[in-house]
Amino acid sequence: MDRGGIELNGVRYRWPPRPVVVVCIDGGDPAYFDQGVRDGIVPNVARFIKTGFGAVADGDVPSFTCPNNMSITTGSPQSVHGISGNFYLDRDSGEAVVMTGPELLRSRTIMAEFSRRGARVVSITAKDKLRRQLGKDMDLSGGSVNFSAECADQCTLPETGIENALALTGMPLPHMYSPELSLFVLEAGIKLLADRRPDILYLSLTDYIQHKYAPGEDEANRYYRNLDETFGRFDTLGAVVALTADHGMNDKSNADGSPRVIWLQDVLDARFGEGAGTVICPITDRFVAHHGALGGFVRVYCHGRLDPEDVMRVTRSLRGVEAVYDKVTAARRFDLPLDREGDVVVISQADTCIGASEADHDLSGLEGHRLRSHGGVSERKVPFILNRPLRAEYAARAAAGSLRSHQIFDFAINGVDPA
Ligand SMILES: [Zn+2]
Repeated sequence: MDRGGIELNGVRYRWPPRPVVVVCIDGGDPAYFDQGVRDGIVPNVARFIKTGFGAVADGDVPSFTCPNNMSITTGSPQSVHGISGNFYLDRDSGEAVVMTGPELLRSRTIMAEFSRRGARVVSITAKDKLRRQLGKDMDLSGGSVNFSAECADQCTLPETGIENALALTGMPLPHMYSPELSLFVLEAGIKLLADRRPDILYLSLTDYIQHKYAPGEDEANRYYRNLDETFGRFDTLGAVVALTADHGMNDKSNADGSPRVIWLQDVLDARFGEGAGTVICPITDRFVAHHGALGGFVRVYCHGRLDPEDVMRVTRSLRGVEAVYDKVTAARRFDLPLDREGDVVVISQADTCIGASEADHDLSGLEGHRLRSHGGVSERKVPFILNRPLRAEYAARAAAGSLRSHQIFDFAINGVDPA
């Protein structure tokens, strides 16, 4: 076992002197902790902020799940790891391609590097879609594991490093769209921390609750109370606990409760002719029930003679649009891989989301709930919380501002005193 630590994307990570648990609270807008601390819902988190460290950091834009999970676990921006959306358009086939394939990931993860040096690493994700990227190049031969709560009943030793992960918690297999999917991840992490004393744990949750319920609502409070209770148990087990999120969440509904949407494909079809440009909503696939695949960031791909400048001019004038960028400017501004960028990027204001064609989005899954979603600049703020105080050097870095969520492993591994 090499106790010298690792180096990845310009950051040196020492060998963790005690177990480090990084939790990515999917959709964990800072407003949930703010409200929870005020209302006494999250006593452990309140204590961490008081006696450890608590701040709000910037996540990456687009403020989506896959890009930010990979930023956090590679300690790098999207231009380095290459995952700049949940979806992109394959220009050759004209098809929207899901960006969860490990072959699309251009960096090793911190988990992969440590596992390959003989560290014991635990990576658990709520939804299976993230599992293969999170586990890319991980060495599972030395007791490291990488599995999802969604498929906890299908684990095999060669594929996930663990058999029968379902038996870890005593919980039944959780439903794909449920708060239990996240709680399973945390309970399994606690069990593995207690039994195997891993060096590093990365636990990635699902934003099912945050898409449906605002801070302070009963269901949100129940969920956050449960999360907080598990954070307290990680703390009691002696781990460094680091909490962040992949993105925040905003209400994007009209006063009457209907979603406030710009149907951009319809706008462009009417203005430039059908098929002149393609709008890709890189939030996720269109079948996801609780947000109808509506987010705050879309890419437009221009075909034939359609000029990106014309698309930009038309979209800039739309109500609810916050910013429009050409490909090069978007890539520079948000540190995105240029070769995977659309011709035009359109970002909505906090209270509005952008869809493609109204006919293609199924909003029945909202079931009367107000639409809450993410993707834009207005949802990039995320919590950055540690259960231990920072060493002086790291406290100074945090105080200097511009804290980024992809620094959380650096801060959790290198930034706190080993004692
Ligand atoms: Zn997410």
